[in-house]
Amino acid sequence: MKSGDARVLFYHRIAEGVDDPFTLCVSPERFAAHLDEIGRCGEPSTLTELSLPSSRPRIVVTFDDGYADNLINAVPIAEAKGVPITIFVTSGVLGSSDGFWWDRLGTLLRSRPSSIKEVSLPADGGTVRVRLGSPWRRIDLQSVRRHLLPLPVGEIHRVLDSVSEQWGISAAPPPDARPLTCSEFVELAASDVVTIGDHTVDHARLRDLEPADQLQTIAPSKERLEQLSGRSISHFAYPFGGKDAFDDHSVEAVRSAGFETACTTIPGNASSTSDPYRLPRHQVKNWSRLRFRLALERWRLAPRH
Ligand SMILES: [Zn+2]
Repeated sequence: MKSGDARVLFYHRIAEGVDDPFTLCVSPERFAAHLDEIGRCGEPSTLTELSLPSSRPRIVVTFDDGYADNLINAVPIAEAKGVPITIFVTSGVLGSSDGFWWDRLGTLLRSRPSSIKEVSLPADGGTVRVRLGSPWRRIDLQSVRRHLLPLPVGEIHRVLDSVSEQWGISAAPPPDARPLTCSEFVELAASDVVTIGDHTVDHARLRDLEPADQLQTIAPSKERLEQLSGRSISHFAYPFGGKDAFDDHSVEAVRSAGFETACTTIPGNASSTSDPYRLPRHQVKNWSRLRFRLALERWRLAPRH
């Protein structure tokens, strides 16, 4: 491996013993083991340090979305291990009792009355009926999620409100899946190991928006996070982050809003020659120490972007 190659990792939540239909959670114990392995195999770094020379491969730990458990569970571990972490926060969801729409969807499908076998969702000016009742809730979740993803975030919440009413059940996200409150965000930003990044106002899939609307969910979010934290925000992560989640207009909006880097979820290694606005990242799951160590080994062979 060339010493210039870096691996940017991304997590979402540090929690255990909770319902986790999207497999976003890593247990605190395993996260601590991951950070030990990162220190053993590489140089724990920030995104700003990516372009600086290093004798050991740089490894950057990032988190997406802005869940409260990042402050409660991840920060104490990162502080104890002295590993820097970057947390991409969805500014408009701070303190929201609705939280993230996918967690509300998880609640609805978990509590769905068994007599209900399908759900009507808006699609292309009409409606589409999605069959439910797969033996694996994940399959129902994925099929409903796929139809909701292209909709504006406000409309997704309205659809979930209406399903909640029709089925007569709550669509509140689980308490453990709540986003940070504003005061928790301020506390998070004050930690010496934390760099705050931006993840838009509402976690919209950018490529579904007109260029001007893309800028409208990117630039004001940076301003709000800077106001709240008193820090300048230089890093961005595209919501959903895959190739189909953003386009050239998104990249231009991020650049013109004044960010220095932007992270995707496209797997690969970064180097000093990577496009700073299309940084690849590797997703980390709830892996044992050994499995994480093997993943770090395997990623040495990942393509460089
Ligand atoms: Zn996200």
